[in-house]
Amino acid sequence: MKPVVPMILRAQEDELALWYRHLPAALEDIAVLKPLDELSEAERTAAEVAIVANPDPKDVASLPNLKWVQSLWAGVERLVLELPEDGPRIVRLTDPQMAETMSEAVLAWTLYLHRNMPRYARQQRDRVWLEHPLKLPEERTVGILGLGKLGSQALARLRDHGFSVCGWSRTEKSFVGVETHHGTDGLKTVLSKSDILVLLMPLTAETRGMIGAEALSLLPDGASLINFARGPIVDDEALLAALDSGRLDHAVLDVFVTEPLPEDHPYWSHPGVTVLPHITAPTIPATASRIVAQNIGAFLATGTIPESVDRQRGY
Ligand code: NAP
Repeated sequence: MKPVVPMILRAQEDELALWYRHLPAALEDIAVLKPLDELSEAERTAAEVAIVANPDPKDVASLPNLKWVQSLWAGVERLVLELPEDGPRIVRLTDPQMAETMSEAVLAWTLYLHRNMPRYARQQRDRVWLEHPLKLPEERTVGILGLGKLGSQALARLRDHGFSVCGWSRTEKSFVGVETHHGTDGLKTVLSKSDILVLLMPLTAETRGMIGAEALSLLPDGASLINFARGPIVDDEALLAALDSGRLDHAVLDVFVTEPLPEDHPYWSHPGVTVLPHITAPTIPATASRIVAQNIGAFLATGTIPESVDRQRGY
């Protein structure tokens, strides 16, 4: 008999419907998937792995022999905060398709800034015909903070497009044709060079508020920011002050401290801000379900738990 794997998913109805279509199909040869409330007592006791998205921690705790949870999301800061350290291991979703989608978004919005689109949009609104000098990609340095699954692919795409790219990570990393740095001094170096700064690190105790007044003051005059990571990494007041003073040119923001972004938030109407509703690299149920099936299939066959979150590092 195939093992039962609980699903603890909280999402909008249309999103849930997609998961309920793709997950059982991808796992049909290896397991039976059941929503938590359909599990018998024996199935609850037997469960060693569960699939989760935004779960209530009490629901996770109701499975006494759980060894690990497979998240359907790449960012797991909430699970890290809410699940006990001695609880099940947390495996986040790492889907090559997501890295591809994210790198496409990073290139698209970098080009948007590189080709002065915000400025031309303002000029159109004001019926101003004015040409700005065109820079070549290599004359523009794009700095990427976070060189993991997503950042490393974005970096390669920008480099291949001809941009000067520099990157920063917690530990030392190297990539062909890219200047990389790490540590506190490394961060200062990357900030001081970045005409466009792209955030792609996880939200952890260390990165929360990392991009505040001091970090922003190190960016070159007229620099722009792209935040595709998590809202609380940026100090909103410091960013607004830097935009208002003209020190920074533009910010493309996909993630916010509170989502959806509250209606009265100054970002909505700020001329220097592009607001995106957290859409740059969504999990795609069709491809993600295949990754989840591989992970759970390997565990059921061999007992191997995929690489999980380091609870000390927070990612
Ligand atoms: P990842 O593979 O875990 O990579 C994280 C990178 O950040 C690593 O290079 C890591 O350094 C670096 N890092 C972590 N803490 C750091 C610190 N304190 N100082 C310097 N560097 C630090 O994560 P990923 O898959 O690339 O995803 C990154 C984040 O993107 C996710 O956590 C999520 O929040 C966000 N995301 C957003 C969307 C969206 O639609 N907007 C979609 C998916 C994901 P090391 O290499 O040294 O470990």
